[in-house]
Order: sequence, then structure tokens, then C-alpha cells
Amino acid sequence: MAVLEVKDLIKKYGQGESEVIALDQVTFSVERGEFVAIVGASGSGKSTLMNMIGGIDYPTSGSIIIDGNEIQRMREDELAIFRRRNLGIVYQFYNLIPTLTAEENIALPWKLDGRKENKARLTEIVQMLGLENRAKHLPGQMSGGQQQRVAIARAIAAQPPVILADEPTGNLDSASTQEIMEILKGLHEAGHSVILITHDNEIAEQAKRVVRILDGKIVEDYVNT
Ligand code: ADP
Ligand code: MG
Repeated sequence: MAVLEVKDLIKKYGQGESEVIALDQVTFSVERGEFVAIVGASGSGKSTLMNMIGGIDYPTSGSIIIDGNEIQRMREDELAIFRRRNLGIVYQFYNLIPTLTAEENIALPWKLDGRKENKARLTEIVQMLGLENRAKHLPGQMSGGQQQRVAIARAIAAQPPVILADEPTGNLDSASTQEIMEILKGLHEAGHSVILITHDNEIAEQAKRVVRILDGKIVEDYVNT
């Protein structure tokens, strides 16, 4: 079953002479457990697509179905809850809360959802991401790679059906980049569905499947063996 279906997605910005078609009839789907990279140069429409899938902005037309739910039919408040439960989003600049420890950042989605913190799961995730010695540290006391590991831990804490990473290595040196890529591969091997957005071909090729976007259109879609 598809965890993500994008159908005939069109996104236009502006009007008249200043109109920009950022996404032009984009259609693709991601099956459960896939590791897909969406790759394209700057201005190709990656962030726009990310914002549509993440429910941050609405498309001009077309639909996005996550785990069977058509998200643009939801009200804003429903969408906020849906997003928290179903999408684990990893950002280029980590987006951690600076005043919370690593552990507290990881548990934040549970808290926001009014759920009790699951100590066993927290310990498991902290171990899985090699953060045992950083659990009580604040983001400012960690390297970029460590902060991104915390952000990934937070994204997967509630076991969302889709993990969406937008240029997760864009702010990291090459060693940390590879470390983060190995973690994403590991999540895929553990059965998670991972969608990686990047401008970097070399990084994209580390995913199982590559979807290339150019001027708002999908121009290539292939599987690496
Ligand atoms: P990428 O993330 O691949 O660099 P974007 O999705 O940011 O590409 O942009 C795709 C196209 O849409 C570009 O031509 C960009 O200038 C345009 N665009 C993006 N956001 C806006 C906006 N808010 N208003 C107008 N044009 C936009
Ligand atoms: Mg972008």
C-alpha cells in the first residue's frame, strides 16, 4: 500500500505576468518501506513540494494522500494533529528547541500530543542514534551532526508512517553527512518509509529510488540496484 500518493499536483505562485508554476502536474507515489530521494537543482520546486506534502501550504490543484488520508480536505486544526502523528519531518537547520535537552526535544511530539512519555521507547531511540552521552545536553552543546541525530530521533519517536527529510545534510561537513545518510539507510532497512529531498546528486544516489524534478516536473524516476 502507498504511504504517499501525489496526484496531478499543481502549485502556482503570483498572478498574470508574475505567475510562476512551481509544480506542474506532479504525480508519483511512495510505497510503504521505500527510501526515495527527490532531487533537483535550486528553483526546481523541491521546497514547494515539501510544503505541500508537509501540509504547510495548499496546492492550487491536485491531491496528496498520506496513509489513505487526503490532506487538503482537512481543516487547519485537523491537519496540524495529522501532521504531528503521521509525518516525521527533519529540517536542514535541525529546528530543535534550544532550551530543551536532547531527550526533552525528542519527547516533545508526545507531550504536544497529550501523551505520556514512553521511557522505554525514548531509551531505545537514544541508543539507536548513539546519543547516550548527549541525552542531557542542550542543542548548543552539540555538534551539527549530533543535533541532526536528535532531530531524526524526534522525527521517528512517534513511529510516523512517513519520514520526510528536507536537505538534512545541507548544513553538515562530509563526515557528518555520511553519518546521517547511514542513519537514514538504517531506518529504511528497519522498515521505515523515508523521503529525502536534496539538490545533491551524490547524496540522492544513496537512496534506493531517485525521483528527479526539473522546472516543477518529474523528469526521471528510477530504482538503484
Ligand atoms: P527549490 O526548493 O527546488 O529550490 P522552490 O520550490 O523553492 O524550489 O521554488 C520553485 C519555483 O517557485 C522557483 O521559481 C521559485 O522562485 C518559485 N517560488 C517559490 N516560492 C515562491 C513564493 N512564495 N512566491 C513566488 N514564487 C515562489
Ligand atoms: Mg528549496
